[in-house]
Order: sequence, then structure tokens, then C-alpha cells
Amino acid sequence: TAKRNGRNHSQRFRPALDVQEGPQLRLLNDLRDALAAGGQLALHYQPQFRLTDDGLAGAEALLRWHHPVDGLVSPGDFIPLAERHGLMAALGNWVIDQALAQLAHWRRRGMPDITVWINISAMQLFQGDLENTLAAGVARHGVPPSALGLELTESVLLDERAGDVAPRLARLRRKGHPVAIDDFGTGYSSLGYLKELPLDKLKLDRAFVRSLPEDRADAAIVTAVMAMARGLGLEVVAEGVESAPQRDFLAAAGCELVQGFFYGRPEVAEALEARWRRADEASPAPSGSRALSQ
Ligand code: C2E
Ligand code: MG
Ligand code: MG
Ligand code: MG
Repeated sequence: TAKRNGRNHSQRFRPALDVQEGPQLRLLNDLRDALAAGGQLALHYQPQFRLTDDGLAGAEALLRWHHPVDGLVSPGDFIPLAERHGLMAALGNWVIDQALAQLAHWRRRGMPDITVWINISAMQLFQGDLENTLAAGVARHGVPPSALGLELTESVLLDERAGDVAPRLARLRRKGHPVAIDDFGTGYSSLGYLKELPLDKLKLDRAFVRSLPEDRADAAIVTAVMAMARGLGLEVVAEGVESAPQRDFLAAAGCELVQGFFYGRPEVAEALEARWRRADEASPAPSGSRALSQ
């Protein structure tokens, strides 16, 4: 049919394609340039705190793109684009290398026990050479794998290739990387997965945190997730904590870790380091004590 009405077809559809795909293709080409040229991509770090003692437990690395014309482009906009057009492997590798370089830098500067969590896309888990990339990265930067945590969204489990997700996760964990399931509760995944998958942490999606403590359904769900996680031996990180009442509810429910604007937004590496140093000065125990016990 393309041959039969090819001319009409292209005449009718080309303008529409330009409108739909034009800006996306431009963004895609710009992203290619950004990866090649460097300087436009950055990782920002959002702190995670323990609820037991308000201590800084680690940080999630979140990708930022400072586009030369458009300004800050959200990862929600360019990551799906990268995934659709074969750029995710390069982008993911950049994130891994950047996070490890930052960890190495922090460890040289006396922050030995910080854990950085990176987001891993389905594409990286199933198509790339994630295991070898991570192994080469930790060797090159001299960082223990335990310092680099891996977050995988629940939707990864829905991937048609998910049949072999458990052995893949098991191998990554055996290397020493902690593994967390991200956006828990939004991916429409069967709870049976929790039984099969080797995991360390469960990140409760902020959709369940938003209306705490007033919303009785959310309160019930969060309480039940905490009980289930405890039974499974998983720590829970609550995402999107924006207020003291939310924090109080989560603490009473037995949640171990929190992350959200109430505690801190994603920030440049230097800001996280400054935060760590302030916390370290305020804390009675010397910073090296935990490192020595490792
Ligand atoms: P995510 O992994 O669930 O990350 C949490 C998102 O929630 C971040 O959005 C963060 O800025 C935002 N957030 C944190 N605390 C709060 C809060 O208290 N209130 C509200 N309203 N939002 C909060 P961000 O940085 O725009 O990232 C969006 C998503 O993009 C991430 O969701 C993650 O799925 C993806 N992403 C970001 N960086 C990477 C990356 O390096 N690789 C991959 N594959 N995905 C990434
Ligand atoms: Mg995440
Ligand atoms: Mg999340
Ligand atoms: Mg999320």
C-alpha cells in the first residue's frame, strides 16, 4: 500500500509528523550532543534519613539535563525518549560512572559510609551489560559495590522479559550492590514477586504518602505495607515526605527511612557534602567509627 498511494500518503502525513516528532527529534539530537560533549548532564542528590535517629543514611542520584536553550529538562521528559531511541544505555552508563566518581571523591574526602542509589531502567537490566559495566566501574573508581545501591521500578517487573529478573537481581546483589524496588504500589505488580525477588529495600511511592495522615485508605495501606515488609525482612523508604505530620505517621508505623522535600530536595553534590559535614559535626560519635566497624 505504501507503493500504491505513497505520494498521497507522504503529502498527507508529513506535516503532522513534523508537528508531532519535530520537537522530540530535536530534543533527541540535543541529548546525543549532550552525551558526546559533556557538561550539560549532572546528577543531583536527594538525601535519605533514618527515622530512628534523624541520621543521614544516603542519597538518591537523580539525573538533570541543563539544555543550552530550553533550560532544565525533566528526566520524566528525556528518559522515556532515550529509552525509545536507543540512548538509554549510554545515558545509564554515564550515570553509573558519574555516581561512582562522586562516591570515590566523597570517600577521599572523609565520607566513607555514604550510600548512593541510582535508578536503573528496564533497558539497562535486560539489554545492556549492566553486571560488567558495574564491575568495571567499581574497579576503576575503587569504590565498594555496597556503596552503590540500585533502584528498579516496579514496572520493570511487568516487562515481558521479567522471567529472568530474579537471577539478574541475585547476581547484582551477590556482587554487593543493595537493591531497592522503586515506586512500590504503583506498578500493578503481583505481590508474589516480593517472595521471589532478592531485595533489600522497598520504596513506598509518594502517592501513598501524599494524603497522610488524614486519608484513612492511605493510612491503612501504609500500615499494611510496613507489616508486610517487616515480615519479609525488607526496609521501607517512604518517598515524597513533605510535612511533619507525614513524618510522624511514618515513624509510628515503623518506617525506617524517609526521603522528600520536608528533609531536602535533590541538590548538587557539594550541597549534600555540606549537609553531611554539618550532621557529622552535630553528632557525638566521630565520623570514622562506623567506617572502622566495616
Ligand atoms: P524516582 O526514582 O521515583 O525519583 C523520585 C522523584 O520524586 C524525583 O523526581 C524527585 O525529585 C521527586 N521527589 C522527591 N521528593 C519529593 C517530594 O517530597 N515531593 C514531590 N512532589 N516530589 C519529590 P525527578 O528527579 O523529576 O525524577 C523523576 C523520575 O525520573 C525518577 O523517579 C526516576 O524514575 C527517573 N530518573 C531520574 N534520574 C534517573 C536516572 O539516572 N536513570 C533512570 N533510569 N531514571 C531516572
Ligand atoms: Mg528512584
Ligand atoms: Mg521513586
Ligand atoms: Mg517515583
